Amino acid sequence: MSDAETTGTEEHAAVIAGEHVRPGEWIDVVDPFDGSPLARVARCRAPEVEAAVRAARETYETHWRHTTAQQRAELCRALAATLRAEGEALARTESLDTGKPLGQARTDAEVAARYFDFYGGVVEALGGETVLTRPDLLAFTLREPYGVCGHIIPWNYPLQVAARTVAPALAAGNCCVLKPAEDAPLTPLRLGELALAAGFPPGALNVVPGYGEEAGAALAAHPGIDHLAFTGSREVGESVMAAAARNIVPVTLELGGKSPHIMLPDADIERALPLIVRSITEHAGQNCSAGSRLLVHESLHPQVVAALGEAFGALRLGRGLDDPDVGPLISARQRDRVLGHLREAAADCEVVTGGGVPEDAALAAGFFVQPTLLDGVSPKQPVFTEEVFGPVLCVTPFTGTDEAVALAEATSYGLAAGIWTRDVAVAHRLVRELRVGQVFVNNYSAAGGVELPFGGYKRSGIGVEKGFEALREYTRCKTVAIHAEAGGR
Ligand code: NAD
Repeated sequence: MSDAETTGTEEHAAVIAGEHVRPGEWIDVVDPFDGSPLARVARCRAPEVEAAVRAARETYETHWRHTTAQQRAELCRALAATLRAEGEALARTESLDTGKPLGQARTDAEVAARYFDFYGGVVEALGGETVLTRPDLLAFTLREPYGVCGHIIPWNYPLQVAARTVAPALAAGNCCVLKPAEDAPLTPLRLGELALAAGFPPGALNVVPGYGEEAGAALAAHPGIDHLAFTGSREVGESVMAAAARNIVPVTLELGGKSPHIMLPDADIERALPLIVRSITEHAGQNCSAGSRLLVHESLHPQVVAALGEAFGALRLGRGLDDPDVGPLISARQRDRVLGHLREAAADCEVVTGGGVPEDAALAAGFFVQPTLLDGVSPKQPVFTEEVFGPVLCVTPFTGTDEAVALAEATSYGLAAGIWTRDVAVAHRLVRELRVGQVFVNNYSAAGGVELPFGGYKRSGIGVEKGFEALREYTRCKTVAIHAEAGGR
């Protein structure tokens, strides 16, 4: 889709069994830059989910489970090439649909292709183990696909997260039903079409857009699903897990975060600050592993706050396609949520910069929030412990390393953390003490490499996406023991 092609009334059907399916009702998708209509997508409900699960099952039983890892790897690599060939168009659609800066959307498109390259590359190395038991037994394990996997994803990185979750599942031999978020469904739908174009059989990847309470809940509760992967908020994650429990189905949950940076007295400030700013302003802070808290040693505190205030003030806001530093939030609802957090927080800390909506009239119709720096935030404040999901950085000074760890741990989330120090021994100690799924020392990479496993500790989730680990996540273990003398007598 290009700018000129965007009429606001284009209709995007569901992709089920290789066909475009139009249930007859539509969901309006709007441009977060100005709230104007962007497109309409199919409003799937239980009957379409039922058809998609049936299609996935049929393809799994008749075709996909009989393929070799090599055949699936070739298709994954073909899809990576198809995604690259359409990379610029995908990036533009992603930028329009989510409001994110075009440069970030281009990275997303490339990372999506990388997922298919990576899982196409490593799936042939997936194997079981030989287990030594008794001399008369040959015992080993097999890694087998689950069958039909359900995937429910959020709106912040629709293309990247869609690829992240379906690439390992498909490579491992599963068929998939993908439910994109209602606020940003366009690139996941295109992924379903491109998988067909790349040669995946109809029914291997089905995409059913719709509202969470309709299509999402129907998918989570469907007894034909063998594995569920959910990426989104904690509240919905709980309900998805409860639905899966009723069918005794394993669930991967990738939920929110309140990730800290810990800046020690010997930190390389010049290196750290741009990465800290980026970690909370990339996609306007709507990132599960956004570095939303800065715990800074008291000796650096005044200098760091002054420099961050300046850096935040210099950020350029604008329309995603113009590739600004910061785009709008996804929706009016999300903007109002963030502004609510800011209103509540402002009474008990210092608002160094930002704190509301931009004054620029050109941005007035969009869902913008100013990049906001809050200083002197106490661990008792909700803004310190709750996920804001906006461009809001909370600064809290500390005196000793133990205090920094206690502050870092003072939330129920455990997704990521950044450590800034030149002292390897201190870094090593903090790495072990922090109960988070990923620790970045002297860097902070929210997107990370596709090769790096990614998952949450504490209430940030269960299970692992990305990396070789995800292939294990989308397969189960079967034990085989063969008696050496069977048939011999
Ligand atoms: P959300 O939980 O509101 O929605 C996520 C998905 O769940 C959407 O597709 C939605 O339609 C669906 N859904 C909503 N209600 C449902 C229900 N009752 N049953 C089944 N599905 C339902 O989350 P969001 O607002 O789209 O995304 C923001 C959240 O996602 C944040 O908390 C963020 O931290 C988290 N997130 C986590 C990761 C990660 O990898 N850990 C990545 C991206 C986003």
